[in-house]
Amino acid sequence: MEEYRSIKEIIDAFHPDMEYSRASKGNLKLSRCPFCGGKKAYINPDPRVNGFSCFSGKCSKQLTFMALYKELSGQTDARYIDIVTFLDGHIPEGKAYEQVMPKVHEEERAPLADRDAVYSRLLELLTLDDDDKASLMKRGLTEEQIEWLGYKSCPTKEQIPKIVETLQAEKFCLKGIPGFYKRYGKYSMMLANGFFIPFRNMDGEIQGLQIRRKGDENITLDKDVSFSDTVDYTLQVKNNNPFPINLRIIDEIPDGAKVKSDSNNVSFDHVQPKEIRWELYFKAGEEKILTYSLEMDIPRKTKAKVVVQPRYIWFSSGNREGGTPMTNFTHHIGDLRDIMYLTEGGLKADVTYFLCGGKKSFLAVTGITSLRDMPKTFEYFKKNGVKEVCVAFDMDRVYNERVMEAIENVQRMAEDAGLQSSVLEWDIKMGKGIDDFTLAHLKSINKI
Ligand SMILES: [Zn+2]
Repeated sequence: MEEYRSIKEIIDAFHPDMEYSRASKGNLKLSRCPFCGGKKAYINPDPRVNGFSCFSGKCSKQLTFMALYKELSGQTDARYIDIVTFLDGHIPEGKAYEQVMPKVHEEERAPLADRDAVYSRLLELLTLDDDDKASLMKRGLTEEQIEWLGYKSCPTKEQIPKIVETLQAEKFCLKGIPGFYKRYGKYSMMLANGFFIPFRNMDGEIQGLQIRRKGDENITLDKDVSFSDTVDYTLQVKNNNPFPINLRIIDEIPDGAKVKSDSNNVSFDHVQPKEIRWELYFKAGEEKILTYSLEMDIPRKTKAKVVVQPRYIWFSSGNREGGTPMTNFTHHIGDLRDIMYLTEGGLKADVTYFLCGGKKSFLAVTGITSLRDMPKTFEYFKKNGVKEVCVAFDMDRVYNERVMEAIENVQRMAEDAGLQSSVLEWDIKMGKGIDDFTLAHLKSINKI
């Protein structure tokens, strides 16, 4: 059993000047977010929670104890013992503090033309696994469309050396290309489990690659219910992957039910009241039992789900020797038109574009709060005849004040650029995302 260490210790270790003030429900408000500098960052050091959340509208990170350490240290494969070692400044065995956080030399990000050239060739050298292809086709894409988009599965550890060798033999320069770094003086690339989503600019050039991560397909989740004064649920979650994984486990709370008690709950008061969620780190093969109780009149069956955290990451190699960090880019698909649709996630934009028969154009941000490029983009739109920006973020915004805030920001930016703006609405029963909705709509009218 791991001894309890507070998430506050991690913040204090990296940011000794951090100040805290008390907030509701045992949360502590930080004087600034360690990632985006925003003023609405919280930790909850309660052993059952031990989580970090930023609601500043810039980074919107929600991190567990393990995940916070990994983000701050850049040591993505950190184990619990590494953190304890780091906090205590000495090691039970072996690893020194200096080794935990090595000083590395990062390269400047290469210009767009170089990134586009390397990423385009890299994608040509890769293949798309059958299960990745099947999951993309389930979203409504055809094989030709997937091919055109350039989606490819991330290579295995065994495949990487050959790919890097080929790129170098063809005289591609890997210096400054996020995702590539040096190991023992030779180039290698970051290993990931999932598939690549190219983030393209308006001219179709690849600015960066996002990875849609997998691993949650190898999780077993069993849910049991028993009745006492309350309705008591037990979730049994097991990581069947040969690697550790961060998981978000979400269970739906039926209308009118009230949460009585729960274990390891990381949901803060700002999160949707319709679900209960945990963010937990699982070692390879580890199983965890989660319990909670609801007060409700008529017990109803709901289905719990697990999602790997984070689902999407950039192909990036910051904090690696000879590596380069990535920044958030905006993705474009389709020509400039009177109305440009703004959504969250490149995959969602690509899928919806094709479901609409290429008749609507999309731009996609990586997250609802990654709006840095919007003023420049909107200004370009205005100069080139675009009339309106239509926001098509996920419909769960009806519960979420964070999303509402982001929408207001977009609308203000559009207005500043002299563009009209609107917000797309649909019945959430048809799907949460614009892609789900469009697919459901096409199915309902037998178009697919
Ligand atoms: Zn932040």
